[in-house]
Amino acid sequence: MSDLRNLPSVDKLVNTHQGSEWIANFGRPLTIDAIRSMLDDVRTDHKSGGSLPSQAVLLDKVLDKLNFWVVPTLRPVINASGVIIHTNLGRAPMSQAALQATHQVSVGYSNLEYDLGKGQRGSRLLHAETLLTRLIGAEAALVVNNNAAAVLLALTALVHRRRVVIARSQLVEIGGGFRVPDVMKQSGAKLVEIGTTNRIHLRDYQQAIDEQPIKLIMRAHRSNFAIVGFTTEPPLDEIVAAAHAAEIPVLDDLGSGTLLDTAPYGLAHEPMVQESLAAGADLVCFSGDKLLGGPQAGIIVGRSELVAKLKKHPLARAVRSDKMTLAALSATLLHYLKDEAVSEIPIWRMISADQAEIQARAQGWATNLKSGKVIPGESTVGGGSLPGESMPTFLLALDIPHPDRFLKRLRQNDPPIIGRIQDSLAVFDPRTVLPEQGEYLLNGIQTSINE
Ligand SMILES: *Cc1c(COP(=O)(O)O)cnc(C)c1O
Repeated sequence: MSDLRNLPSVDKLVNTHQGSEWIANFGRPLTIDAIRSMLDDVRTDHKSGGSLPSQAVLLDKVLDKLNFWVVPTLRPVINASGVIIHTNLGRAPMSQAALQATHQVSVGYSNLEYDLGKGQRGSRLLHAETLLTRLIGAEAALVVNNNAAAVLLALTALVHRRRVVIARSQLVEIGGGFRVPDVMKQSGAKLVEIGTTNRIHLRDYQQAIDEQPIKLIMRAHRSNFAIVGFTTEPPLDEIVAAAHAAEIPVLDDLGSGTLLDTAPYGLAHEPMVQESLAAGADLVCFSGDKLLGGPQAGIIVGRSELVAKLKKHPLARAVRSDKMTLAALSATLLHYLKDEAVSEIPIWRMISADQAEIQARAQGWATNLKSGKVIPGESTVGGGSLPGESMPTFLLALDIPHPDRFLKRLRQNDPPIIGRIQDSLAVFDPRTVLPEQGEYLLNGIQTSINE
């Protein structure tokens, strides 16, 4: 115990050469915190029999702490999993143009809420919405924080304590504990559930409309699972016809809501925003960072009088979008408007990637590493869209003992690399690895093989 007295004081360590360097790099308060915390650790360790480290070791421990404390917890990773819209990995990577637009409006001031013509207060709602209405041909549009917020706002503003009709087959859990019925209830709306898990008929809607006053009919895309077998569901235009005959508006929550058809890429047809509007839905809402390929956002398009009600509701302020989002979303929408979405938006480049190119890239990796082989595999779209659908791909496969430990080491790489295991092989899908990340991926794999 007695040698604890030999432990240097905080002051003594602050006044070392390293101490002044740390103060310059990390600031005085954090440096002192790190020294105190290190000394506490050493004392605790000493009580349980540990010996007293040298001053050099003590200083190293302080630096470790400082470095550990300033590493951002949110960091870029390399997604070699082959899941294109990976909800745990930040969903859609954004285009270069979206990034630049974000940068430009956020390092300085912007006309976010300023009418440059009139020299007075303007509306932030203008920016992305002008593009949305032109692009989709909707009367009006509104952008909010995310699609869950879009659904909550629409139901709060349009239904509140009154009744909303929804089919039981659509009361789904999207992921991360997000449940459509919970969000619906949160708005104060009373749910009128109709049909059964697998079958819903137009007469179920008609009966609900006839039996009680209904404020809204909602349809929610099942997103991340499919019901197969003995199933039926009326098409949207028939639901709309029944609703409109009773002067009830229809809200279609598409979830992913793509603007481009997924079928040409060998995938099932994911419901499109334009189709819902054409079928007569009064409001359609979808995410900005699923198949749209932009920033996190909830987008609501449809009839102007309903959109106006949503904009006026106090909740709209609580779920409004930030300028960075609006800039990134506008730049993303512009890709669609200029018919360059497939070549400019990363997730669409991945979806449309050429098989031969993927194979050549995987082969290039194997050659570079002088190990592994190229095997066929499957990529998926993810992000609560196209359940059970996959796209043929080629994988770099490494036959390494304990592939799970190998993948763990890769997750600790800088930048972290996310691969997966297939038939006891560690596999890496070039489809989701951005072009500029290839080199980092190979360095990381090489290092982890050698460890
Ligand atoms: C993903 C999804 C949501 C939630 O969208 P976020 O943008 O993640 O808030 C809501 N409804 C459906 C049907 C979805 O698929």
